Amino acid sequence: MGLKPTCREVHRLVSEGLDRDLSLVERMRMRMHLVVCDACRNFGGQMALLRRAMRQLTIPDDSAPGHDAK
Ligand SMILES: [Zn+2]
Repeated sequence: MGLKPTCREVHRLVSEGLDRDLSLVERMRMRMHLVVCDACRNFGGQMALLRRAMRQLTIPDDSAPGHDAK
């Protein structure tokens, strides 16, 4: 385990960070890498967008009546 995380590790941290809170160390490693790596920065932005879109599509809305449309 080196000081600099690899792109693969950062990709994992980015996607895990959407599901759970990363530790301070994990966040720092990710941030430091994102500063110098355009590819991972783009990846992070796309993941955030994708996740937001997914969430809008999959909101469980059991309380809403009239669920039988369509
Ligand atoms: Zn990278």
